[in-house]
Amino acid sequence: MALIVQKYGGSSVGSLDRIHQVADKIIQAKEAGHDVVVVVSAMYGETDRLIRLANALTQQPEAREFDMLIATGEQVSMALLSMALNAKQCAARSFTGHQVGIHTDGVHTNARILEVKTDIIQRELNKGNVVIVAGFQGVNAHGDITTLGRGGSDTTAVAIATAVKAHECQIYTDVAGVYTTDPHLVPEASLLPQISFEEMLEMASLGAKVLQMRSVELASKYNMPIRVLSSFADGPGTLVTFEDKIMVKRLVSGIAFSREEAILSLSGIPPHLGMEGRILSKIGDMHIEIDMIAQNMTGEDAVDFTFTVSRREFTKALKAVEELAEELHATSIKTNSKVAKISLVGIGMRSHTGVASTMFKALGDAGINIQMITTSEIKISVVIDEIHLETGVRAIHRAFELDKLPASSEQLFIE
Ligand code: ASP
Ligand code: MG
Repeated sequence: MALIVQKYGGSSVGSLDRIHQVADKIIQAKEAGHDVVVVVSAMYGETDRLIRLANALTQQPEAREFDMLIATGEQVSMALLSMALNAKQCAARSFTGHQVGIHTDGVHTNARILEVKTDIIQRELNKGNVVIVAGFQGVNAHGDITTLGRGGSDTTAVAIATAVKAHECQIYTDVAGVYTTDPHLVPEASLLPQISFEEMLEMASLGAKVLQMRSVELASKYNMPIRVLSSFADGPGTLVTFEDKIMVKRLVSGIAFSREEAILSLSGIPPHLGMEGRILSKIGDMHIEIDMIAQNMTGEDAVDFTFTVSRREFTKALKAVEELAEELHATSIKTNSKVAKISLVGIGMRSHTGVASTMFKALGDAGINIQMITTSEIKISVVIDEIHLETGVRAIHRAFELDKLPASSEQLFIE
């Protein structure tokens, strides 16, 4: 018997049929003797529909009213789910974020949770009820409804799990868990039994959109294990947890990638003190976010400065680079707006050598030229031509035998 928080995403509550199935899953957990708090997203596509409505009405909807509108999707699904449970003789009660006491800061459409009250949730659990809470929303100090940014129901679930000291926070979605890489690109990708918070944050920041980043940050801060699992099929899913709890030691855990990158390079700059700061502040002033940076001496008196940006910033970045080339007397500019980034992530890199060489050799053998490299303690990223992305990810996946992951040696999943 344990207290668990379950979150069901938009596709899991996407139709009345699906809501019935979710109700059955919750009843299973109840019958196993657990107390259950459920967080729901809006029904699939509903938040998008509400956003379209607002934008069709006015170009600049007031932030307060916008939140008032887009928070309604979750209220629909929580009430329907509660009705479905009650109809199946399982006592349930639904609550908005405001009602249970999810207090946030005042940043409409991207608010942060400051505090979660537990008295109402506890009172309802004591009565034996399943407590259903609307995800993605809270209330600010003025009593106005706020929302937590797209995908924010994950963060609601982790915040509630932490506040009520749940055994684990289960995030039900439409995939079986977290994979070694995108299975659409690499069909042999395997399901990870476990992944560390740190690795998950790297994967999430690199575009693996299973969980909202903030939810992983919060879980990591309060040591709340998250289990990502499918509401469509049975299975243990992926446990996101602390490194020391990970039993299955792996060299690397996954490959994340992003397609929409661009690379820009200033060549032959006569070196002088402080020029890197000048380059970066100019780019920063234009509100362009830089991802990777490399600088190297190409001769006695020449330096190349290269960086990458997201492709939608390319035109802006090119303008900055053209002005900088003049100011700094660079001899030429090189750009490529059709590059992609592949990142290999794994905590095993900390204690093992040879990971980078295996990765680079795999790319070389596949005939792929690496245009830029950056590394951190648990990640190696390379920039390559976008047309080689698929081949590159597959080659690296094969080189590390990520299709043959050992199964989890322990079952933390509470039955
Ligand atoms: N319904 C919100 C969204 O679509 C929040 C969520 O689903 O997590 O972004
Ligand atoms: Mg989501």
